[in-house]
Amino acid sequence: MDIFQHIPKLKSLIEQSERIVILTHYNPDGDAIGSSVAWYNYLQSLGKDSQIILPNDFPQNLKWIKGSETALLANQNMEKAEAFITHANLLICNDFQSLSRIDKLEDSVRKSEAIKVLVDHHIEPDVEQFDLIFSNTESSSTAELLFELITRLTPEKPVDTAAAEAIYAGIMTDTGSFSYSCNHKRTFEIVAKLIDFGIDTRRIHEEVYNTFSEDRMRLLGHCLTNRLTVFPELATAYMYLTKEDLRDFRYVPGDTEGVVNYALSIKDIKFAAFFIERENRIRISFRSQGDIDCNEFAKTYFNGGGHRNASGGNSFENIQETIQKFEKLLSEFKQKNNF
Ligand code: 5GP
Ligand code: MN
Repeated sequence: MDIFQHIPKLKSLIEQSERIVILTHYNPDGDAIGSSVAWYNYLQSLGKDSQIILPNDFPQNLKWIKGSETALLANQNMEKAEAFITHANLLICNDFQSLSRIDKLEDSVRKSEAIKVLVDHHIEPDVEQFDLIFSNTESSSTAELLFELITRLTPEKPVDTAAAEAIYAGIMTDTGSFSYSCNHKRTFEIVAKLIDFGIDTRRIHEEVYNTFSEDRMRLLGHCLTNRLTVFPELATAYMYLTKEDLRDFRYVPGDTEGVVNYALSIKDIKFAAFFIERENRIRISFRSQGDIDCNEFAKTYFNGGGHRNASGGNSFENIQETIQKFEKLLSEFKQKNNF
């Protein structure tokens, strides 16, 4: 199916809508922020006002993205966020496949009469929750997919530099700086075009990856030194952080972004997990190599999902019980996935 067949419909929706809201998932990452801000900048270049609404705040190393400062944080101003959603004509749902991923905004989005457009690259979108769907699991990132949409919506008026930077930040972060989910030339062709639109790739990399706090680096050190378990015979490694760890290292959101990947960087490790103790649950990140399906694992055992090689989940047991449950599942999972 041609995923771009509904471009004319999207174009007329944008033209007709006076109140456009751009939404993304809880704990927004580089792709969520990059794609949302690119929408905002693009709509502004068409003379359209819009409002970005985030379920909660986003990491400090993404604050440089021009336009991100206009985002409304729902957890700090729920009434205002709900009012925007209720009165919107058009809701652009970015980088999530199910309304369960927008936290407390789910209810108001369900009730809103606005047309809901999905722009996303996750598998198994909840199709009945949206009116118009642009979903492509082949895209490295939602930002990449959005670039494809924009160049088809207004070929005569593609992205400006601010939108191009936001899109690049989304692609770069969702591919681990072009190390996964981008083994096709389309991603690189798009990056080449973004360079034509005036982005500075070196500066963007510096902003995102070389602006960490000392606390963040020391928390990573603690994690690798004191909180890492490796099972060579199971080709699996995991790490965890307790509430006390987070407090001791003055954790701020974003500080553990990417930590799980270090477990997967160990030679011969093919499956990795990272557990983090939150207020009312344990959040888990899973990463896997090749055909090993960690989406299925997260979905079956830990109330989550995601992609084949990167997924997330939740546990409502305590951290010891959660880790015990995880460890017990490993040999069967290894057998089933043949690794
Ligand atoms: P992360 O480990 O970075 O939080 O998440 C990895 C991937 O899994 C992301 O692409 C994210 O969209 C997806 N993901 C994370 N948590 C959940 C979840 O609870 N449910 C589903 N369906 N996907 C998730
Ligand atoms: Mn994404």
